[in-house]
Amino acid sequence: MKLLLATSNPGKVREMAAHLAARGFEVVSLAETGAPQVPETGRTFRENAELKAVSAARATGIWTLAEDSGLEVDALGGAPGVYSARYAGEGASDAENNAKLLRALEGVEPSRRTARFKTVMVLASPAGGVWATEGTCEGVITTEPRGSGGFGYDPLFYCPELAKTFAEASPEEKGRVSHRGRALAAMLALIDGLVAEGRLTDSGR
Ligand code: IMP
Repeated sequence: MKLLLATSNPGKVREMAAHLAARGFEVVSLAETGAPQVPETGRTFRENAELKAVSAARATGIWTLAEDSGLEVDALGGAPGVYSARYAGEGASDAENNAKLLRALEGVEPSRRTARFKTVMVLASPAGGVWATEGTCEGVITTEPRGSGGFGYDPLFYCPELAKTFAEASPEEKGRVSHRGRALAAMLALIDGLVAEGRLTDSGR
């Protein structure tokens, strides 16, 4: 049974593909299908995730999983939010985004550097069915990068549950508590339910 992962972010693919493959899904990437990547024009994580999943499922005829995620920093009124990937400008690198975040929080004391990662994950069927799950992980923005693992804002995101930054955590540790790990766990349970009901099949459109 094929499942299309509608994300071109290698960090996200790494975090999600193994879990799906372990469940017997043949994970297909957007690049393999030739389906176009849609622009993220939504105002919320949910809108963007749904845009990506629904358009790819419709274009390919394959059940599709997409997600949208980002970082909300309280002292910045929830920014960068849906603009997390392009915080320092269109096509900005992780290093540029992180540098901008540190500048924006310069002089802000530790107790006011609270933040959270959020993920909304959407499963779309070729027939137009849509199911969504969410995950959140609370943390604090550090004053300098720590660790070399992960991607994006991981070196600046201190996770109290792990007592280290996401970039200092192993992929397993991060997956256990992260926004994406939690949204994925809920999505896997939802997928199990659809499979048990016989609704998630190649022909079940
Ligand atoms: P998206 O591809 O539009 O969902 O952008 C998500 C952006 O949020 C990424 O490019 C990262 O900058 C940030 N982000 C999302 N999840 C994570 C994570 O687990 N670690 C670090 N940064 C993340």
